[in-house]
Amino acid sequence: MGRSKLQEGGSTSAPDKVGSADLPRYGQLINGSLSMGSQQMHVVNPATELPFASVPNSTKEDLDSAISSALRAFAGWRNTDFSDRRKILDAFSSEIKGNDEEIARALTQEQGKPLARAKAEIANACRSIERIAALEVHPQTLREMESETVVLHYRPLGVVAGITAWNVPVILAAQKIAQAIYAGNTMVLKPSPYTPVATLLLGKAASAILPKGVLNIISGGNELGAWLTSDPRIAKISFTGSGPTGQAVMKSAAANFTRITLELGGNDAAIVLPDADLDNAVPKIFASAFNNAGQICMAIKRLYVHSDIYEEVVRRMAAMAESVVLGDGLEAGTQMGPVQNRAQYEKLIGLLEDTRKVGGVRFVSGGVIPDRKGYFIPPTIVADIAEGTRLVDEEPFGPILPIIRFKDAEDAVRRANASEFGLSGSIWTADPQLGRTLASELDVGTAWVNRHGGADGQIPFGGTKSSGLGREHGVIGLHNYMEPQVLHESK
Ligand code: NAD
Repeated sequence: MGRSKLQEGGSTSAPDKVGSADLPRYGQLINGSLSMGSQQMHVVNPATELPFASVPNSTKEDLDSAISSALRAFAGWRNTDFSDRRKILDAFSSEIKGNDEEIARALTQEQGKPLARAKAEIANACRSIERIAALEVHPQTLREMESETVVLHYRPLGVVAGITAWNVPVILAAQKIAQAIYAGNTMVLKPSPYTPVATLLLGKAASAILPKGVLNIISGGNELGAWLTSDPRIAKISFTGSGPTGQAVMKSAAANFTRITLELGGNDAAIVLPDADLDNAVPKIFASAFNNAGQICMAIKRLYVHSDIYEEVVRRMAAMAESVVLGDGLEAGTQMGPVQNRAQYEKLIGLLEDTRKVGGVRFVSGGVIPDRKGYFIPPTIVADIAEGTRLVDEEPFGPILPIIRFKDAEDAVRRANASEFGLSGSIWTADPQLGRTLASELDVGTAWVNRHGGADGQIPFGGTKSSGLGREHGVIGLHNYMEPQVLHESK
């Protein structure tokens, strides 16, 4: 390879102190082979602000090769049956598990999360692959009469484009790969430019298991996503990311009637009733709000607490926040890493500054940015705050949680629903019947009682309103990777 053009993938501000030749290189998977392409970019570690890896910065030619390869592979792959594909996906999952140390280290370096959480993400991704590959899709007989039969079949679509976000890149990639491929499609997957490395390592694992061309993984900037979604050879786009990018994907899909699933942002409310078991609830609520430094689509982002227990919940949450060890995810003992990229870090600092200007709010933990390298924000809890502030109305996507007071449960549900988002939500109570009733009133794709979070391959997941379109996972999710066809036969 000649002298490469080097661009920065993740951050626009990290210093290029390390030449690309010194950085570990991670190739992209096209037509069964791993290669660095003609151009590269580097990936920044958010704990150090330094580049740590070099990856391909795909050109239009690379993209064309990836789509052509996926199209060629589709001709054979579509004729395999579910049991063949299940065996291959199970083998893919085993191959990932066999390389989990390397993938976890890369994930921690690019994303920031503690190494143990990176390993947990990989285990979760493998579990999702296996659960998706265990799903059963059967034709449905809609009518069976002497004169006619009508059967609904589900057929693969063709080449699926997968586009993922930077918060849980391994889980998002694994779930999209498993659904697309198990349904009989082939795929071109593009991770976020901030976190391509662990996903490229999934490509390396796939290269040992999957027939060539069935899965192609290419890395590059945002423009690569736009090229991919506007290509008329793409049959379906499975997108996870922000609302504005989701709208751009919808526009680009419209030109070719490309099928889409959009998994977008959330501003999840959790509503804690006065009878809730706080010993059980508070640790779970804290984990949901602050795992992955709050960068989870379905994290609790608005905590509504009944006024009778408000001060007690605030006190317990603040104590948990104060005990968190913030640090580089590769260091032993770290419980929370940095936020993933500089743009997100600056957005969160702006949000903190705006929140300080709101009259009467109380910062009960965090709120002060440590004077150190890296995009570190301590777990921050803001009490005595309400709707009409940016922190409550917007999705922070970081370790900052508002706790909002309420007196009447139905009123809390109304306030929770008065949001542009509708991903998920939860009710916390000792009364199961009341919990179910209030949960069913939440205008969300997933409503929990006494828990918050968790999406695996078996259970459909997705949002209402601006949190998304369509569902992933479960048989409903698989159907979204297939085209229904009615076979109507007269006798
Ligand atoms: P983003 O929209 O900036 O980027 C997502 C992906 O889209 C990246 O791979 C990016 O390169 C690509 N992209 C950018 N411009 C594009 C274009 N014009 N066409 C096609 N692709 C393009 O989102 P992000 O900042 O990476 O992710 C954070 C958001 O993702 C949050 O809002 C979060 O809630 C959401 N999210 C949702 C879910 C879910 O399942 N609902 C899961 C994880 C994250």
